[in-house]
Amino acid sequence: MILITGGAGYIGSHINKLLNKSGYETIVLDNLSKGHKKAVKWGSLVNADLSDSDKLREIFQNNDIEAVMHFAAFSSVAESVEEPEKYFKNNFENTANLLRIMKEFRVRKFIFSSTAALYGIPKEIPISESAELKPINPYGESKLMVENLLKDESDFGGLKYVSLRYFNAAGADLDCEIGEDHNPESHLIPLVLDAAIGRRNSISIFGDDYDTPDGTCIRDYIHVQDLADAHLKALQYLEEPFNDSNIFNLGNGNGFSVKEVIDTCKKVTGIDFEVKVEGRRPGDPDILIADSKKAEEVLKWKPEYPDLEDIVESAWNWHKKLHG
Ligand code: UDP
Repeated sequence: MILITGGAGYIGSHINKLLNKSGYETIVLDNLSKGHKKAVKWGSLVNADLSDSDKLREIFQNNDIEAVMHFAAFSSVAESVEEPEKYFKNNFENTANLLRIMKEFRVRKFIFSSTAALYGIPKEIPISESAELKPINPYGESKLMVENLLKDESDFGGLKYVSLRYFNAAGADLDCEIGEDHNPESHLIPLVLDAAIGRRNSISIFGDDYDTPDGTCIRDYIHVQDLADAHLKALQYLEEPFNDSNIFNLGNGNGFSVKEVIDTCKKVTGIDFEVKVEGRRPGDPDILIADSKKAEEVLKWKPEYPDLEDIVESAWNWHKKLHG
């Protein structure tokens, strides 16, 4: 049995589906503050908060849990700047609580949903796992605190973990059963698709004076199906008794500018809409592109859907189903 915290959310729900399709049994723990009950179509759902130690103990007591995949966290950079304490409490303290209770029940395999935000403003592109960790916002800081705790628990407490540092998760389930559904939405692709479907009048580009060929920020968009596959491979990696704790970047290796994303959305949807240019959003680095060679070599993982058009097309199919 695999415990998936945050399995009602965007990324967690895709992994929940893939694990079930691959023969694993799952329990999703989610407080449904951001996630959606209807996204948990596989395994069982426990509606509870990670700060609820009694509930956590009950889950570990009543189920034979082999490993925990931990997605439950707040993930808005803008909100983390407004309310840092919320991020330290939910992302760090609640994770520490989960790890403490896992230890009580001798559950020692852990897969952590980490982020490229750990790297802050990178000195070199593409970014490898050994790049300096210097988050520039409380969201990244709270995830780095967890990674530091995981390292100590692994060095001294017998934990075996894999930390997966995602770049920009995008796209949706290819069967269109689940997909991205944030409220409020802040991510580029669903916002652009909102403009295409008429839920907003225009899309704003946050800055066109960056040091990039077309002046807009470049990001590495990775298909959520590929992320799901990486989690399955990470779990199989941890199931091998001689494998050590490890950290992997997960990206597509290709960078796309904000303008390229907007043009691709126009092409895929066949719909034109207004594009405005606004000032820069605080804390946005010019370019973030992953070096995922380590995941390729160690986990034998390679993105199957690196093409931006394929990513946008799956997101569009889901967007039409959700809002059409
Ligand atoms: N962005 C934008 N307009 C929007 C939303 C995002 O120009 O309405 C830009 C943002 O500044 C960044 C890129 O799109 O350069 C990706 O942003 P997103 O919030 O999707 O992901 P992040 O890179 O912050 O994790």
